Amino acid sequence: EQLIQEGLAKLVIPRMDEYRRPDGSIEPAWMPVFYNPQAIVSRDVTVSVLRTLYGSRNIFFVDPLAGTGIRSIRIALEKGGEGIVNDIDPHALYYIRKNLQLNNLHPGKLHVYSQEANILLNNLTFTGISFDYIDLDPYGSPVPFVDSVFKPLGKRALIGVTATDTAPLTCSHYRKTLRRYWFTCVHTDFEKEMGARLLIAYIVKRASALDIAARPLLTFIYKHYYRVFFETLRSTGEAYRLINECLGYIWYCSSTLERGYIKSLDEARDLTCINNEKPVLTGETWICSLGEAEFIDKVFNEADKISWLHKDSKRILGLLRYETRLNNPYVRIDKLCSIIGRNMPKYEILIEALKQHGIIASRTHFDPRGLKIDSDVKALTEVLKSI
Ligand code: SAM
Repeated sequence: EQLIQEGLAKLVIPRMDEYRRPDGSIEPAWMPVFYNPQAIVSRDVTVSVLRTLYGSRNIFFVDPLAGTGIRSIRIALEKGGEGIVNDIDPHALYYIRKNLQLNNLHPGKLHVYSQEANILLNNLTFTGISFDYIDLDPYGSPVPFVDSVFKPLGKRALIGVTATDTAPLTCSHYRKTLRRYWFTCVHTDFEKEMGARLLIAYIVKRASALDIAARPLLTFIYKHYYRVFFETLRSTGEAYRLINECLGYIWYCSSTLERGYIKSLDEARDLTCINNEKPVLTGETWICSLGEAEFIDKVFNEADKISWLHKDSKRILGLLRYETRLNNPYVRIDKLCSIIGRNMPKYEILIEALKQHGIIASRTHFDPRGLKIDSDVKALTEVLKSI
């Protein structure tokens, strides 16, 4: 075993050195209890979001897939609140108990359970406690747990969802994407953003089916996982408004990279690409913003005050502040340049040139080669040609 520190938490975990891949990185799934050092960013942002949303208010949270307990421990130490820490695996339970003791977190503050997560969440529905926050951090897809997560939530609450099934979400497995997320894949130059949008669409639809409006507050991808925070509101009217306004389709021209959102398939009839091809359609997906820009500003400022956060957490929040304001999917500048036969300009030069043409642009955390703009690809192409 080894002792490590993450955030304000001390943690006992199995010796990570024994679970290295040939390239030297850790394979958490081989460990007797799951601990992924790359998920520090996910946990840093969770703490920052909770501090921003709830301030010093005492919250009640559930961590139904807790692993070593690190997430609950960090929430308890770095935000404060009372929580339920649960895992079905006896090895995980052993580490959770040990780690709570190590951090002086007494059973009155964090309550340890060992139930199947869906059973736990469904049972918690009948306790009469309104939970403020539920964290869904599964292996792979959150789909097996999504329906249960909405049930114990209070009237207004927060959920944090991880998805590590990035292959189907980024359309590498057409059939699996259709089966799991009811989404018909089309290859685009913005597949990482597409993955976030189809994950959000799926969760919003399941929430709406259960009379809850789930609005994304903050969305990102880091290494091999997506993480989305949703504010949830028990309201049939608001749930209807969200799916009515924010679910739609994306049209896409693969030879010119033009794209756009439409609400209904009827709107596609009159669309043509600049080269007169017909665009392909993909959906149904989330076409509204991936987060609330003002909220992300506050999360960034909160994170900035916390000295122990990982530099990547701050870097991603820094980018999200700008890119979340631009709703159009990012454009791969390298691809567009090769289509129009131009050399890649430096990003700073391109952003400045776009600004001269009244177009706002932002780099994106989704892809270092991508750029988000508040205009269409036709205008971007013209600016690229003018440089
Ligand atoms: N949240 C942890 C963290 O931040 O380090 C990591 C959680 S790990 C990805 C997923 C955990 O869910 C594993 O510890 C596994 O034992 C547990 N698990 C998987 N299926 C479960 C189920 N149906 N019910 C309860 N726990 C489950």
